[in-house]
Amino acid sequence: MDAKAKISKQMDLPKGMIRLSAPIESDNIVNGDGLRAVLWTQGCPNGCVGCQNPETWDYEKGHLAGIKDVITELSYLNGQAGLTFCGGEPFVQPKACKEIADYVREHFGWNVWSFSGFTYEQIKEFGGEPWEFLKSLDALIDGPFILKQRDLSLKYRGSKNQRLLHLEYGTGKILSIE
Ligand code: SF4
Repeated sequence: MDAKAKISKQMDLPKGMIRLSAPIESDNIVNGDGLRAVLWTQGCPNGCVGCQNPETWDYEKGHLAGIKDVITELSYLNGQAGLTFCGGEPFVQPKACKEIADYVREHFGWNVWSFSGFTYEQIKEFGGEPWEFLKSLDALIDGPFILKQRDLSLKYRGSKNQRLLHLEYGTGKILSIE
């Protein structure tokens, strides 16, 4: 299955809900700059060989959470610099992710990062809700995990093909690449 077919497998979610694979995390220092809250999303169509979280692949597993309840829980966290979406694949539930991203930016002053097994270019070409979610980010770590290119010395990434893209909020323009 090519990337376009994979990203087309958008998750069917009840209104106002997001599907998560784990409890909300805080004070995380390995998934972005500074102390961060992390939302672990459920569901991933990418099937990377060597994936460390294969239990997050199934679209029916994990648990449904109300977006409002997620935001309330995030509001109780102190001292966080931002929020990172990890997967699973956040870009198969981009509308729910964007709603949370926009809220924490506006109300908590947090920056927002996301991981994706898709590349920036694949998300841009697909357009629609995935691209709208990307435009609400400050940084994207993109691309699938490729076991043959694994490099544990990379900041926030697992394999050499993955990039840390700093983005212009609102336009999705790439400002710099690490
Ligand atoms: S994109 Fe991430 S969660 Fe999905 S298969 Fe690849 S490494 Fe695993």
